[in-house]
Amino acid sequence: MSLEATPCPVCGLGTLCHRVKQVIVDIAEYERVMDQPGFWCNHCEEGIIGGTDLLATEAEFQAFRAFVRVSPLSDEWLPRRIRRHAAPGASR
Ligand SMILES: [Zn+2]
Repeated sequence: MSLEATPCPVCGLGTLCHRVKQVIVDIAEYERVMDQPGFWCNHCEEGIIGGTDLLATEAEFQAFRAFVRVSPLSDEWLPRRIRRHAAPGASR
């Protein structure tokens, strides 16, 4: 299913467009900028990242996670410590 040109569900003002946008991924106190494909709103900074879009950055994400050396034992708290958010002003 393509979300191309559908109204943004977050702000309702823009439309979604599939493109690559820089996002900042935080794990604990570390952060890394990744080129994340997804359906990004052309008005606000929000976007919808589908399964295939996540796969595009999965290897880099796992490498980053390994770099931070978060152990598998930490998976219970890990989701609350990982954030992906748009880099301010990036790829406008
Ligand atoms: Zn929006």
